[in-house]
Amino acid sequence: MLLPDHSYVKVDSLEDCLERLRENGEKAMIVAGGTDVIFNMRLKLFDPEVVVSLRGLEELEKVEEIADGGLRIGAGARLADLAENPIINSRYPAFADSIRAVASTHIRNMATLGGNICLQTRCAYTNNSEQWREGLKTCYKTDGNICHVLKSSTKCHAINNADTPLALIVLGAVLTIQNTDGSRDVPIAEFYSEDGMDNTMLKPDEVVTFITIPEVTDRTTFLKIAPRAGMDFSIAAVAARCDGSGADVSKVTIVLGSLSTHPIVLDKPARIVSEKGLTDDAIAEAVEQVREELGELTNLFSRTVYKKRMANVIVKRALVALREM
Ligand SMILES: Cc1cc2nc3c(=O)[nH]c(=O)nc-3n(C[C@H](O)[C@H](O)[C@H](O)COP(=O)(O)OP(=O)(O)OC[C@H]3O[C@@H](n4cnc5c(N)ncnc54)[C@H](O)[C@@H]3O)c2cc1C
Repeated sequence: MLLPDHSYVKVDSLEDCLERLRENGEKAMIVAGGTDVIFNMRLKLFDPEVVVSLRGLEELEKVEEIADGGLRIGAGARLADLAENPIINSRYPAFADSIRAVASTHIRNMATLGGNICLQTRCAYTNNSEQWREGLKTCYKTDGNICHVLKSSTKCHAINNADTPLALIVLGAVLTIQNTDGSRDVPIAEFYSEDGMDNTMLKPDEVVTFITIPEVTDRTTFLKIAPRAGMDFSIAAVAARCDGSGADVSKVTIVLGSLSTHPIVLDKPARIVSEKGLTDDAIAEAVEQVREELGELTNLFSRTVYKKRMANVIVKRALVALREM
């Protein structure tokens, strides 16, 4: 499958990159590792006139410890490097696990953290060749006005399948977003929206430049369910965090991914175990509440009933894993 015609812009600095994005607006698309962008361009799902590459911008590849004990990671840092980073492995094990959960070693050698955070939503109907899609009416994601997954819906239900954002949400990470007008810091928990088509708060001229993770001493875990490890996107994934020790906790955070258009931060299940501790009974009660908060799940990529069951299973496993740490 050939790439559609486009011009490729290799920039020398972040300023140059931001200027190119400002000049080209909606016509431009950022490429970082390209593991998603290039593939989707070949499928003619993305058709940017200008591709602006972040490759080689050293300022976006650094990992630096910051004064208050946290870590500042450039969005262009490669996942393979981050997976080997000793600070990430010792201080943020759930984040390290989420990085290693992304695709295969080959893909992680190219893929960047920024690209994973900004990964566009996926759908079995759109992430297919142009020829395959021609057999269907265009949908919200391909300039039409229907969702093939949920025909009665007025919005797109493509799924956010990225793994690292779940761990970054439980860690309280903050994204730095820049354009030529300046920069703003946004907690990653507020970055995603419920619209499968326009899934993040990024504007066309904006770049995620840095990810800042505060110091975290709590217990954390990341788990993923996928048909084949090292190859497939998650069917369901979870990141969870708690303070205290053993079953004794006062604050638990649970984030589910790959089930919907956005990561889902569970409220009631987290409150139950925060108040009652990580006992078998409280975990069972919390798990019972999970499906109430999943929202409108679809049959996309796997059956809804299976997804609901997997969500329960993976939350239970995560809470037990936290207790045993
Ligand atoms: C076979 C296969 C399996 C995969 N499995 C997984 C998986 O299990 N889990 C998973 O999470 N992903 C998976 N992926 C998807 C993808 O490889 C990863 O998400 C990867 O981390 C994307 O990073 P990248 O640097 O290659 O992004 P790119 O492809 O370069 O970009 C992805 C998106 O992010 C935007 N972007 C990139 N960087 C920035 C930035 N700094 N600021 C603003 N926008 C930006 C791009 O414009 C594009 O929309 C898989 C891909 C393949 C081909």
